[in-house]
Amino acid sequence: MIVEEYEAKSLIRKSRTSLFSWSEMYLNPYQGCYHDCKYCDGKSEGYYMHDDFANRIRVKKNAPQLLEEYLKKNGFFPINRKKTNSLVDYFPDLRESADTKHKGKFVIFIGGGVCDVYQPVEKEVKMTRKLLEIAYDYKFPVFFLTKSDLILRDLDLLKKINEDSYVSACFTITLADEKKQEIFEPNASTSQERFEAIEKLREEGIHSGVYFYPTLPFIGDTDENMNAIYRTAKEVGAEFVYCFGLTLKPGRNKNEFMQTLSEHFPDIYPKYEVLYGNKDKYGNLDREKFKEMGLIWSETKGYKLGYELGLGYSSERYVPEGRFEKNLRLSEILHRIQYLKNFYTKTSRIELNALNDTAQFFISYQNDIGKMDEEEIVKLVEKPVILPYVTDFLKTGESELLKEIEKKAYDSVYRYIAERKQEF
Ligand code: SF4
Repeated sequence: MIVEEYEAKSLIRKSRTSLFSWSEMYLNPYQGCYHDCKYCDGKSEGYYMHDDFANRIRVKKNAPQLLEEYLKKNGFFPINRKKTNSLVDYFPDLRESADTKHKGKFVIFIGGGVCDVYQPVEKEVKMTRKLLEIAYDYKFPVFFLTKSDLILRDLDLLKKINEDSYVSACFTITLADEKKQEIFEPNASTSQERFEAIEKLREEGIHSGVYFYPTLPFIGDTDENMNAIYRTAKEVGAEFVYCFGLTLKPGRNKNEFMQTLSEHFPDIYPKYEVLYGNKDKYGNLDREKFKEMGLIWSETKGYKLGYELGLGYSSERYVPEGRFEKNLRLSEILHRIQYLKNFYTKTSRIELNALNDTAQFFISYQNDIGKMDEEEIVKLVEKPVILPYVTDFLKTGESELLKEIEKKAYDSVYRYIAERKQEF
């Protein structure tokens, strides 16, 4: 493995929230990933990564400075830092008030992008740890998604940040069988090690869940593998399992994956040729072929398993300091309804778009709807189709309609799976 340091021009990327992640800011100090997963989307040409993605790891050596500059420029203050070179070092009473001038905070996704921030190079370089120290100094909540138990090295800092605000340290786990996992994720921690790390983090009160993503058709979406992942996730105390299928973008991403299949699963290879033979530029499988082959969406099977085990289908949203609690809760509910309706009920595109647009609107709305009366809030909602969800939420601050939709989604996937299994 070659490690190469360079000065990056930028580090931070803002992002819209979704059920995948509630983070609004993504950053990553690395380019390239030694874990070398055979389905890695980061290898696709669209991300403009270098060819030897798995063997040459590029380190943004100025990442900590870039993060700090960004936070300072936006009016945030390192309230937890002992020495700040400012007046508060001499007047400790000013420390708390120095942190209140800013606008609201947000969850930082350390590792957002396409490279694992706890890959082996981090052991020596400690770039992720430096970023974590800054998050702690500035009292910012953080989110991680990794395939390495090296994250436990930073448990001391994670605990301190979690006490102050919030940490969600999640793991991608796709295959319970270690031999198969080694084929597709050769240099990552084993699935067992990742589950053990979740257990440890949960014992320390840190939020954690499983990203069962991607689910590999015929390999990872089997009943055996799915049951094992969901049940073990439950046993180790994961709060949720987020399940999502495989995309194979034409080019490096697909070529490398297919090469691995031909070497290790030659009998399954032809099925992938049919399923992913459509050359979709986003790498989505051919839905018609999927139906013809009598397959069941892994998301559907996963939703059923998760519901039966009492596991969430995504993490709960954390409301960072200085943000409007009710605005973000309402947007979370609308996002969830949109996700469920998109997958499990026949809902018009118009309604789905309206749900998404209204969710985004309330995230960025500059007034606290918690201090407004119902009439004023209702006037903000442009699309009448969304009103029932909004008024339902305003009654109690929770959503009875969301609970009903979750139950309906479960009934519908239950029926769908039973019918499908009878048919084929
Ligand atoms: S851990 Fe993530 S970024 Fe790294 S190779 Fe695997 S899929 Fe790609």
